[in-house]
Amino acid sequence: MGQAIGVDLGGSHVMATVVDESGDTKAKHERDIVDHSPAAVFASVEKVVAEALADAKEKQVVGIGIGAPGNIDLETGTIRYSPNFGWKDVALGDHIRSAFKFPVFVGNDARCATLGEHTFGAGKGVPDFVLLTLGTGIGGGIVSGGRLVVGGRASAGEVGHHQIRPHDGFVCGCGKIGCFEAQCSGTGLIRHALALAPSFPRSTLLDAPKEKLGSKAIRRAAQAGDGHGVAAWNNWIDDLGYGLANIVAFVNPTIIALGGGVASAGAFITDKVGPLVEARSTMVPPGSITIVTATLGNDAGAIGAAIMAIRGGLTT
Ligand SMILES: [Zn+2]
Repeated sequence: MGQAIGVDLGGSHVMATVVDESGDTKAKHERDIVDHSPAAVFASVEKVVAEALADAKEKQVVGIGIGAPGNIDLETGTIRYSPNFGWKDVALGDHIRSAFKFPVFVGNDARCATLGEHTFGAGKGVPDFVLLTLGTGIGGGIVSGGRLVVGGRASAGEVGHHQIRPHDGFVCGCGKIGCFEAQCSGTGLIRHALALAPSFPRSTLLDAPKEKLGSKAIRRAAQAGDGHGVAAWNNWIDDLGYGLANIVAFVNPTIIALGGGVASAGAFITDKVGPLVEARSTMVPPGSITIVTATLGNDAGAIGAAIMAIRGGLTT
């Protein structure tokens, strides 16, 4: 059975694992990333790949797949730009190719996660599928007609930066106002709680130091019935419903899977947002949209990256 090395490269962390054709993974090798210079990141990737290769049956390894943040030239594996790393035109693919004797493929991390969930997770066997990862930001990927959609310059699926509240929303990291990501990421949930603070003068929800304020505390407060938490959660869910309905209008997925830290709330999200998306999706037959929690967790990106290497590309 063929195997590949799947690498999930993030702004603060890199993980490599051996993945076989059935989606099973072997021991993970991880490193923190503190230095964002290309040379330092290359060295960290090389290290975890070498460790993962030592776990693999080398004869069965068909390639190395790397999911990385940013816009990526899928032919060469060059990162055209990556805000997370502050990179422009960094030849990650060429560098890793020169260090190992295997074919190397590089794709966007969210698209790799989508490929992973579509092949072995929440989207298995679903021809029209969307994955959204709700974390610090919102990553995404679209499968249409059974194929991952990458677009003309590999940025299809960047749904985090479509605007849902351009007039009264929060400022997004990209500079626009009211992007889906600004409103509905985990960070967006915190922003909703902060925005509502004046209405809840006796709330203790935001008493933690700002750097420790997490979306999980707000979710727990909402689940416990705290007024401030419930109000923030409802506003967040309301915005999420607009973004998801827009995605339904554009690509008509039958299943939308939500991954990332906040999505661990599971039915507390899907039960509430499902009816909103249903009501706002006026051009699809009733009852034809299912919103679920993603199933591969933090491994989705590395598994998808390995599938990309096994198949010889993101869309093949
Ligand atoms: Zn934006």
